[in-house]
Amino acid sequence: MAEPYKIVIGLEVHVQLLTKTKLFCGCRNQFGLPPNTATCPVCLGLPGSLPVMNRTAFQLALRAALALNCQMASFTKWDRKQYYYPDLPKNYQISQYDLPFSAEGWLEINIHPDPKKGHTPKRVGIIRAHLEEDAGKLLHDESGRGGDSRVDLNRTGTPLLEIVSKPEMNSAEEAVAYLEEIRLLMRELGVSDCEMQEGSLRCDANVNLHIPRSDEPHGYAATPLVEIKNLNSFRSVGRAIRYEAERQFSAFQNDPQNYRIGRLLKTTAGWDDARGRTEVQRHKEEAADYRYFPDPDLVPVTVSPEQIDAVRREMGELPSQQRVRLQTQYGLSPYDANVLTAKGRPMVAYFEAVATILNDGKQASHRISDLVFPALSERNEEMESFPIRATEFAGFIQATATLSKQDRVDLFTHMLEQGVNVAAAMEATGLKPATFDEATLRAAVIAAIGNNPKAVADYQSGKTAAANRIKGEVLKANKGAPNDLVQRLLEEELAKQ
Ligand SMILES: [Zn+2]
Repeated sequence: MAEPYKIVIGLEVHVQLLTKTKLFCGCRNQFGLPPNTATCPVCLGLPGSLPVMNRTAFQLALRAALALNCQMASFTKWDRKQYYYPDLPKNYQISQYDLPFSAEGWLEINIHPDPKKGHTPKRVGIIRAHLEEDAGKLLHDESGRGGDSRVDLNRTGTPLLEIVSKPEMNSAEEAVAYLEEIRLLMRELGVSDCEMQEGSLRCDANVNLHIPRSDEPHGYAATPLVEIKNLNSFRSVGRAIRYEAERQFSAFQNDPQNYRIGRLLKTTAGWDDARGRTEVQRHKEEAADYRYFPDPDLVPVTVSPEQIDAVRREMGELPSQQRVRLQTQYGLSPYDANVLTAKGRPMVAYFEAVATILNDGKQASHRISDLVFPALSERNEEMESFPIRATEFAGFIQATATLSKQDRVDLFTHMLEQGVNVAAAMEATGLKPATFDEATLRAAVIAAIGNNPKAVADYQSGKTAAANRIKGEVLKANKGAPNDLVQRLLEEELAKQ
């Protein structure tokens, strides 16, 4: 049953760039330092200090924008966005207004209802990506007894990339898929670590509804825009959008003539995660309220096609390209390719090494999912420090090909816990592939032929597939016996019947 409305979502994402220093001064850009220990006259906005642009921040931002398929401006400049707030000592933020360094891009997401089963691509448009400096942080007394508020200016002036999407997402799931793709892309490119808990990935969601009404000029009525802030996890992004859609729908039903875009101004709302609701806060400032003007202390930046080519070359393979390559080169399903890609480049390199040795991509991917993924999460370990390297893992798969899944898991656990190789683990646990001599197997084949006169008769009357029933009985009683050897013995013995 379709929803009685269409949700329209645009996301504004801020990612903190992984630079050593801030955007316009030499102060450290690092999370978790003691308050106000990474500041200087420039980021404190003291009179007479002058900002100088951080080249690395600009390079990282170029890399991100190229990966988002943006058009690059050859000429870009810095603007001052004026507003007064205690965490903003200069009383303006250095940002980009009418000439952002990149615009008009897109990002592809998977909107298949069951991403395990399929891949339905959707391109979400990117309006612009621009650079700006971050503000500081206010630390409020949360005891409820009205204590002091303090300000920490370590974050002031750290580089932020703002990525503004078009309002082209139509469900909470699509918005979360978009954020997951941005996070993967930024991490893979070394642009940002995108830790939402530490604020290095932040997201505001612009939400409204299109409600079908046959008597409207466009066939629908649109509700006023609400920008939801304080979203500090992917889960809260999803919950907030679902809540806000329902809230807007009932507001519209209560007052269908006036609860409309154009009649009411855009508002901002905070998301209260504990209470599971949005709280409408204030009417949003318009751009004109900020009195933007070009920053006279900073020179405009020009970007040449050669610089863009250089950045593109060092960017490496993007996740979207990698997913396709893993499917075509190794025959993986879209789901398996997605899972490996989502785990990051070191995991993909591991997979490729194992798949090459085994000459079997599907087997490599399945064994890595069965054994390596759970081991990494149980040991809380990154791929880079995982003790069983790709060559050894491939050897393990070959040596345990005839064991049951459970035996393989037990052996692998033993290897990890004891730090031993597969041979030592087999010796210690007794979990070894059974060995079969030909005489024993031949006897088993003869016994199975004796037990299955009907299958033998069918076989002799030309129904050769009947032989599989006999073979199945032999293999069931002799787990791990080589299939081709049993097949040969069976053919020899059936010929004698
Ligand atoms: Zn500074």
